[in-house]
Amino acid sequence: MKVALRDDDTSYFTPPARLHDVYGAVWDRIPVCLATVPFAIGYPQAGIPREHWQSGQSFPLAEHAALVDELKSLEAAGRVTIALHGYTHQDYPSGYEFQAAPDPERRVRDGLAYLQQLLGTTIRIFVPPHNALSKRGLAAVSAAGLNLLGSFLSFRPSMRPWEWRTLVNYWRIRRFRAASGRRRHDRFIYPYVLRYSRHAEFGCHSLIPGTTFEDLKRGFDEARSLGGDFCIATHYWEIDRTMHGVLVRTLDYMSQFPDVRFVKAEQLFA
Ligand SMILES: [Zn+2]
Repeated sequence: MKVALRDDDTSYFTPPARLHDVYGAVWDRIPVCLATVPFAIGYPQAGIPREHWQSGQSFPLAEHAALVDELKSLEAAGRVTIALHGYTHQDYPSGYEFQAAPDPERRVRDGLAYLQQLLGTTIRIFVPPHNALSKRGLAAVSAAGLNLLGSFLSFRPSMRPWEWRTLVNYWRIRRFRAASGRRRHDRFIYPYVLRYSRHAEFGCHSLIPGTTFEDLKRGFDEARSLGGDFCIATHYWEIDRTMHGVLVRTLDYMSQFPDVRFVKAEQLFA
């Protein structure tokens, strides 16, 4: 069984010391997939300094040279991998970036090229800001050949670009829902990779304020009993002592099973 860890929102605004505080005792056990924003725009969020909340200005990651150096050496040490997390991560009145931006195709293409060049790495994963994707946003990610690491993406064929696997995968999800006694609107994480013609998708279990060890254990135990895999998604900027404790306790619990392997998130799609 493969288990991975994803962390969202690394950007120009991220202090390298914060990543060390949160993951220093974790990333030698399990690599952290840092879903990174290449040109973050300031908006009201705990991870962004207050003076940038209303600035509407976009900050290239390259302008935080110390962070760029840190990301390169963390990746070289196998402690992190880099995924693409939107382009500016800005919110529009009509939706989140990859639901409402007028040019999702350009954003994926340029963001991918920029981050790969800047960090000297190959990026294989896209994480949608706020886990939100329009049909066109999804088509843009798929066309770029990036795999999707999400949580609660919609599988309804009407919400997706058409291909025959759309229908096959939708029926898989429906069968899983029925077999596990879930009702139509119950939210759940499907524990297997779903493959489409140009990309694949996997869902993560959120670790946010209020998430308990029992919540994650329940998701992990179900995935394990079904022969699936498991991924946790969190945000470094909201990890406090309680959340850190939940994360470490969950890692301790999972690592007692001999069949569990802590892997880079990219390996979920292997
Ligand atoms: Zn985000």
